[in-house]
Amino acid sequence: MATKYEEAAFLNDNDAFETLTLDEAINCISTDQNSYYQRYDGRLYCPECHTPHIGIVNRDGNYFFRAYPGSEHTPTCFYGFEPISSNTFQEYVLREENHDELNGKLQRFVYRLLNRGNIDLHNLLLHVQNDRCTSNNTNLVNIRNRREIRRIPTKSISAPFNNDDLNCYMLFYGKVDVRYSIKGSGANAFHKIYCYKRDRNELLCSLSFSRNVAVHLENNYNLIPDEKKSNMCVAFYSEMKRNGQFLNARLTHSKLFFMDSQ
Ligand SMILES: [Zn+2]
Repeated sequence: MATKYEEAAFLNDNDAFETLTLDEAINCISTDQNSYYQRYDGRLYCPECHTPHIGIVNRDGNYFFRAYPGSEHTPTCFYGFEPISSNTFQEYVLREENHDELNGKLQRFVYRLLNRGNIDLHNLLLHVQNDRCTSNNTNLVNIRNRREIRRIPTKSISAPFNNDDLNCYMLFYGKVDVRYSIKGSGANAFHKIYCYKRDRNELLCSLSFSRNVAVHLENNYNLIPDEKKSNMCVAFYSEMKRNGQFLNARLTHSKLFFMDSQ
């Protein structure tokens, strides 16, 4: 499968790179196609290694970023690796001994979204052997030699979803507004975090979880039912399921979620 990018590095007029997300590009292209191409055509690169050119492609009404055919990433670039298969990654995510490390990866990923320091994506590479992944052997020497190294699959919740983004274990992320909700009470209560497109009341997806998980999340993130938190960066590991027109992911452990404010 060709790598899909949800952001690209834009080389601006000052010869500096800035991030263009897929949803920003789609907004721009649907507002004024000519000005999109004037500004960005030929000036987008791999968001990590800045080497291959990236172009926008429209297939069946869905836009996505794709590297120009035949272009190579630098040897250690995150996007040069194959994603970990869903079953293998699910098994890794559900093993509790990995939760602290997985949470650390989410934290770094969110800090990267928030531009806090120069954080690369190497810590989202894992060693996969016999359908089992570990964080062993992910030093740069092994990465350069590409010894059974795969990348954690990632998906922005504010970019459009395709069928192949559903029912797969991935790292989901987004810059969104969130609202915490509790319906019902006691052991039968439903706990959810709703994620909205920023500054709009457009629901992107929800995250549902048990009372046990809710207790930790309420404490860690000062969640108050029905209070909206704006300009948040969220990241979590789960699989997204479609229920009618709604997208929902089930969160099985509080450490599989991380959130911070802009
Ligand atoms: Zn690259």
